[in-house]
Amino acid sequence: MPRPARPLISLVVPVLNECTAIDRFIGAVDAALRDLPVRCEIIFVDDGSSDETWSVIRRAAGSDDRLRCLRLARNHGKEAALTAGLDHARGDAVIPMDVDLQDPPALVPEMIERWRDGFDVVNARRADRSGDGWVKRSTARLFYATFNILSPTVKLIPDVGDFRLLDRRVVDTLRSIRERNRFMKGIFAWVGFAMTTVDYQRPARRDGASKWSTLRLVGLAMDGIFGFSPVPLRIMLLVGLIMTLLAFAYGAWLVARTLIFGIDVAGYASLMTALLFLGGMQIAAIALVGEYVGRILTETQARPIYIVSETVGLPAAEAGDR
Ligand code: UDP
Ligand code: MG
Repeated sequence: MPRPARPLISLVVPVLNECTAIDRFIGAVDAALRDLPVRCEIIFVDDGSSDETWSVIRRAAGSDDRLRCLRLARNHGKEAALTAGLDHARGDAVIPMDVDLQDPPALVPEMIERWRDGFDVVNARRADRSGDGWVKRSTARLFYATFNILSPTVKLIPDVGDFRLLDRRVVDTLRSIRERNRFMKGIFAWVGFAMTTVDYQRPARRDGASKWSTLRLVGLAMDGIFGFSPVPLRIMLLVGLIMTLLAFAYGAWLVARTLIFGIDVAGYASLMTALLFLGGMQIAAIALVGEYVGRILTETQARPIYIVSETVGLPAAEAGDR
């Protein structure tokens, strides 16, 4: 697939309460792309910030026509904000990036190079995550391992986040996927295409705090697994079947023992243990089914993935949600 001599590169940047990071990000992009034969557009998606972020973006867009910016009506979450950005990107290649410089713009030239080599997707892998804490690194490792065991078709490359270069063909394919439970790393992997990976060292956040609480990360992990794997249901079915068989065998043994040795009323402890264990298992199984049913509910409600409240640098016809 031939690449244009002077391609348009879209950087899609979701931001939530990042007023101090915007100008620094634009500066870093300028420094990284200055000598490259590319044109660039930056799509900031303000994901319902409650600080000065939107006014900082508007001010920056006033003097920089590379900026095309959307403000979402509320905090829709990073996955929805990314979707909004991808919907409005016009680039020959599109790169989702964090604004906090943890996805270093200095890596972009190498990603473009690989894209010119013919790859449609260039993943950026965090070879060194010492910028993230120990807990985050080990829970991330556990998540990638669990996801890849449970998901029969879609495999995630460990330590590849949303930072990756996507060819226009890939973006068009991604845009046709409108599911409401959006786990973007899974959706990126699901579409496939010719892929390669470049490594980078993930720096620590420059300032501010991560926008992901532990609870939110657990929610994202659950969206990922339940959105891409029916295997938990099968495991539950298997566990249920095994327990039924064991219970049947134990019951038969109890009947035989009673017939041979007479009635035996002792056994409160074992009875209670079995009762509580089975009760817990049943509630867990129902809740597991509920996770899937709840996702069916949001899909059938078919609400828009995001709502746009304001734009700058976008023609009126292009504004609005899809
Ligand atoms: N972000 C967002 N909406 C959210 C949470 C985060 O747009 O609900 C943005 C955030 O402003 C940043 C990027 O997503 O540009 C990554 O967030 P963060 O740096 O907090 O994540 P971490 O690096 O800790 O995984
Ligand atoms: Mg970050």
